[in-house]
Amino acid sequence: MTEFAVDIANLKKTYGNIEAVRGIDLRVNVGEVFALLGPNGAGKTTTVEILEGHRKRTEGSVSVLGHDPSNNERIFKQRIGIVLQKTGVEPYLNVEETIKLFAGYYRHPQPIQQILEITGLEKLRSIRVQKLSGGQLRRLDVAVGLVGNPELLFLDEPTTGFDPSARRSAWEMISNLRTLGKTVFLTTHYMEEAEYLADRVAIMVNGKIVAEGTPKELANHESETTIRFQLNSTDGTLPQHLVSKSTSSGDSIAIKTDTPTETLFEITRWSIDTGNQLKEITVSRPSLEEIYLKLVDKSETKVD
Ligand code: ATP
Repeated sequence: MTEFAVDIANLKKTYGNIEAVRGIDLRVNVGEVFALLGPNGAGKTTTVEILEGHRKRTEGSVSVLGHDPSNNERIFKQRIGIVLQKTGVEPYLNVEETIKLFAGYYRHPQPIQQILEITGLEKLRSIRVQKLSGGQLRRLDVAVGLVGNPELLFLDEPTTGFDPSARRSAWEMISNLRTLGKTVFLTTHYMEEAEYLADRVAIMVNGKIVAEGTPKELANHESETTIRFQLNSTDGTLPQHLVSKSTSSGDSIAIKTDTPTETLFEITRWSIDTGNQLKEITVSRPSLEEIYLKLVDKSETKVD
């Protein structure tokens, strides 16, 4: 029994003079959806391909389902599924034939019917691949990744180029994988996707992990809460100490605060005392996207 699905210690990878991965430690629990995030060139693909056994590491230790991926064992390949950004599937086969073809490569494939159900492709089973939309094709990629009944599935940017409803249904499909007990290792450039899907995320910048935790834990690193509301232009002005903390755009005012309860009380008391109506009032914590942008900006400008 392996304790972690992925266990990396001090992983390094250099390409000539380029240090793509600079000593990272990472653990992924069995059965969780884990998202690796980071800007272009951060080292994500390098890391994931080392985990998949497609690239050799320079230094460090890597365990995936208890295997060292660099040993290239057949049993290891049977236990993982990989969904790349572009998968080569035959345009003239239909959906079911495609899944059957790939099922033939595995000793214990998952039943075709089950794969069709999980990926929502049941109604499209006899449609030719060349007639599928981008979103449907991506589902087929996932179906192909799942057909060997892997314990761990690598998903590389699973919803790039999707319209919002296709993205939502892909998210549902990925959530279903969690309920089947699969571990999912996801890379994505969409923070909303990571926030929705991932139990835990790691943010990688310049070959290093700069933050790791549940999306909520990362949000809690950031102490500021934003209170937003609108005032009519004919309304009076806020007390000076609140004005100094605020930024405005048109009628809309935003106040960032470390003490939201007190600040909200001051604003609403001012509103009641003066009769100025607060419209569209919202209180929000920073989104994963805001935290990500801050962390990336800080880490990219840091000289080390
Ligand atoms: P993206 O989001 O753009 O896919 P990434 O985070 O996946 O980026 P990598 O592709 O791992 O980043 O690249 C990390 C660094 O290593 C980059 O500076 C890249 O140019 C370099 N690199 C990647 N593959 C090679 C290679 N085969 N030979 C030389 N340099 C490489």
